[in-house]
Amino acid sequence: MKRARVVTMNAALGPLDYRVPESMDVVPGSIVVAPLGPRQLLGVAWEPDRLSSNEVPDSRLRPLAGTLDVRPIAAPLRRLCEWTADYYLAPLASVLRMVLPSSAALDGPRQLTEYRPTGASPARLTPQREKALAAVEGRQGTIRELADHAGVSDGVMRGLVNAGALQAVAVDADRPLPCPDPDHAPPDLNDDQREAASDLSSAVGKGFDPILLDGVTGSGKTEVYFEAIAECLRQGRQALVLLPEIALTEPFLKRFEARFGCAPVAWHSGLRSSQRRRAWRGIASGEAAVIVGARSALFLPYPNLGLIVVDEAHEPTFKQEDGVQYHARDTAVMRARFEGIPVILSSATPAIESRHMVEIGRYREVSLPKRFAGASMPEIRAINLTQDPPPRGRWLAPELVRELESNLDRGEQSLLFLNRRGFAPLTLCRHCGHRFQCPNCTAWMVEHRLMHRLACHHCGHVMPPPKACPECGEEDSLVACGPGVERIADEVADLFPDARAAIVTSDTIWSPLKAAEFVGAMDAGAIDIVVGTQLVTKGYHFPNLTLVGVVDADLGLAGGDLRAAERSFQQIQQVAGRAGRGDKPGRVLVQTHDPDAPVIAALVSGDVPGFYGAETEARREAAMPPFGRLAAIVVSAEDASEAEAVARRIGHSAPDVEGMAVFGPAPAPLAMLRGRHRQRLLVHARRSLDVQDVIRDWLADIEWSPKVRVSVDVDPYSF
Ligand code: ADP
Ligand code: ZN
Repeated sequence: MKRARVVTMNAALGPLDYRVPESMDVVPGSIVVAPLGPRQLLGVAWEPDRLSSNEVPDSRLRPLAGTLDVRPIAAPLRRLCEWTADYYLAPLASVLRMVLPSSAALDGPRQLTEYRPTGASPARLTPQREKALAAVEGRQGTIRELADHAGVSDGVMRGLVNAGALQAVAVDADRPLPCPDPDHAPPDLNDDQREAASDLSSAVGKGFDPILLDGVTGSGKTEVYFEAIAECLRQGRQALVLLPEIALTEPFLKRFEARFGCAPVAWHSGLRSSQRRRAWRGIASGEAAVIVGARSALFLPYPNLGLIVVDEAHEPTFKQEDGVQYHARDTAVMRARFEGIPVILSSATPAIESRHMVEIGRYREVSLPKRFAGASMPEIRAINLTQDPPPRGRWLAPELVRELESNLDRGEQSLLFLNRRGFAPLTLCRHCGHRFQCPNCTAWMVEHRLMHRLACHHCGHVMPPPKACPECGEEDSLVACGPGVERIADEVADLFPDARAAIVTSDTIWSPLKAAEFVGAMDAGAIDIVVGTQLVTKGYHFPNLTLVGVVDADLGLAGGDLRAAERSFQQIQQVAGRAGRGDKPGRVLVQTHDPDAPVIAALVSGDVPGFYGAETEARREAAMPPFGRLAAIVVSAEDASEAEAVARRIGHSAPDVEGMAVFGPAPAPLAMLRGRHRQRLLVHARRSLDVQDVIRDWLADIEWSPKVRVSVDVDPYSF
């Protein structure tokens, strides 16, 4: 009798054994439907000798209910799933959920309605309709795809359908995907770029090859790795590009289309189930040639992967903070290793970890030291707020205001960067000192004036803006403390009533469509001053943006964790990199109370190697990553004493291992989150120690009630 060992997507279950009916063809990697009680579970058949399971005798095995008509999950991806589960101490089933997104995506509708222009002009032709029609000429797609492309809302497109300007076409959901052409519009590369491009291209097809593509902002890293993608296409293999933020996909798609003649396949959480099904099936069949996606795209079943690119590889968003807490940058390198293919980590400000890998010879470096087309790197200056402070109740120093003014006079665009959403980070009663705290989290409620509410940025709890203090009942006593982007935008409106300002945060740019609108408005010169959070530091290219003001350069350093200096440095360099990307030079003004802080001094002097050198040395001395290892064990429960008790038990039974130290338990940095009290133990170990093995054995002996959750964050990004 044939048996199969199946990993289902249910994390509470271990691998289960089934009987394979005679008529069914099941090999390792086959996607199967497995009965469990009255339910049918989706799962993947695995090599039985790689996983243990309860040995059930043949006679008691239930038969598998079916298989899916898609290719089996290939061995390299099965190995990656095992590695991820082992390394990040997660159930294999949870990793598999990223491979097989949901049965709806696999089954989904087979028919789908798309639309194309009829050629008829609608009776009522508004400028917006006219623009939308021009944008979709010669195209066909779902309402959403056409709307995204034209940069208008779904409603505008539906209006055009009703007006007879677009007609519905029924299409097979699995019909062929457009095929990017490597020779559609090759760029004219300069010498540096050509050398880098041929270096990257020649790596394709020759095995595992991790490469750090290190080039200053605006040097043309994208153009250059596009050439490696072109080579991958010529070899008939799939290429995957990971982006840190879905807001960046739309500009990327446009750029890709200009180079390759059609859009790549996008994969992110914003897809509809029909799009998801089509993308997943196209990927799994090998038909989708280039895929661009958020970190979850890393686990899709590409049968024929030839290249992975991680764009803006230093970005913290590549670290997943819930569920399987994996780092997509590191996991991408592992996938490339199992697949035997090159992986390009592209960044203007690589992580210390990545630079270290170059230093010890594990990664290769390809660099682009100069901006494209003679554009110069922006000049960075510090404004000492203790000497040139803003007027009372204001946040922009006189020097920055003067620069903004002269930029407006010249008709050039400016960007003010402050990594804080909302109007004010804290609301306080002047009378009794009451502060508005989130009932579920150790966090202040942040005032969002545009939305008329206070919101917690950790759990999403909202409340209406209070009229009186709930503590002392005083009216008109509440004051907003500190600035957020909305408050800076108010100040800009006060100072320059005629300037057209835009706020760019995840509150205003929450979809690829919104991002496309923003880019369109910038390109059309309809925005003079952008006030934004870290969302604007990434990847954008606005040639007429010549001034960047960093409102509070000290903010990122306040927390003081391991990566504070590095992250601040990267963030300010990235935002500075938005300035002067065209033929006009850029200026960057950094407001700080401490111009002598190493981060600020390095930014102003431009001594990048010096800064990295000093940071790396400090990490080496403290045996911190990448020279040592960290893992955080977080114990949470609704009841504070339950969390404390389990955390203490874990602390007491910490094994005595040479080269490992355990700190805590202590309240986690967010001591309460979403109504759960959190205790944390921090494990610090020497590089060579298999800390996962130690933690696995250690926790295996301890029991806790289902009300308590214990999660392990291996290589935590922040702590
Ligand atoms: P980076 O990713 O290094 O910041 P980009 O690849 O975004 O740089 O390039 C910056 C800008 O310069 C983009 O608008 C890009 O189209 C343009 N550019 C770079 N190299 C070339 C080239 N060889 N030919 C034409 N345009 C280029
Ligand atoms: Zn909260």
